[in-house]
Amino acid sequence: MSSKLEQDISKLDYLFNQIKEPIVCVKCSDELTQGLTDAKSIQDYSRIDVGFTDRGLQIWCQRHQLNICHINFEGKMPEADFRCLEKKNK
Ligand SMILES: [Zn+2]
Repeated sequence: MSSKLEQDISKLDYLFNQIKEPIVCVKCSDELTQGLTDAKSIQDYSRIDVGFTDRGLQIWCQRHQLNICHINFEGKMPEADFRCLEKKNK
């Protein structure tokens, strides 16, 4: 039972941060690059809404009230995993 569980967890690496190409607001990125903010990173500076829409999934910049990216699911709902996986420090 426990060994089966360990196997299953090893297949869940994708629930950790696997981002290879971050999607950022171009305006936020420009302002950070130009030193117009005290934020140390784009993660600190970004204020982003992410959610499902009729079209698919949208990433929206709250700061600039601009679309960052709107993915078209073309009427299909892709598999989505909303589980959280935390590493235990033992
Ligand atoms: Zn922005």
